[in-house]
Amino acid sequence: MRQRIKKLIESGVIKKFTVILDDKLFEQGVQVLVGFKAPDTEQLVEELGKMDVISEIYVTSGERNVICKAVIPNIKMLKDMLEKFVDLKIPFETNIVLKVVKKAEYTPRLSLKLKCNYCGKEISDEPYTYTLYNRRFYFCCPICLRKFKERMRILERRKKQS
Ligand SMILES: [Zn+2]
Repeated sequence: MRQRIKKLIESGVIKKFTVILDDKLFEQGVQVLVGFKAPDTEQLVEELGKMDVISEIYVTSGERNVICKAVIPNIKMLKDMLEKFVDLKIPFETNIVLKVVKKAEYTPRLSLKLKCNYCGKEISDEPYTYTLYNRRFYFCCPICLRKFKERMRILERRKKQS
């Protein structure tokens, strides 16, 4: 463990961070964007999904095909995360967010008509949404949403039993 951190420091990976980072930056948690060149995106996404510090994961086009965002409360956890990434043996590039210039909660209205994930009907109004395993589901009404949740609960239970 120590040895590996030492190697990371020598390779300049961590040194680069400790130069940029002071404790002040950690007050609200340091935001880190990581881009991977993954040969197998599904496998990587599964690994990343297990890590608590990672809040967002995107599979993208381009050379870096998986991009994730992590919010990290301290330097130790940053080291842990980087170690984990080195262990994955997938080329990656890390970017620390130095300044958030614009961050909007607004999501543009989709021009495509969404279909209800329960009944299949086209959704004309604002959809009801539900997120499960990093996937977002859309519903035409609260009843469909409730029925969908019930169905997922039953499926979960069956999965556990088998
Ligand atoms: Zn519906």
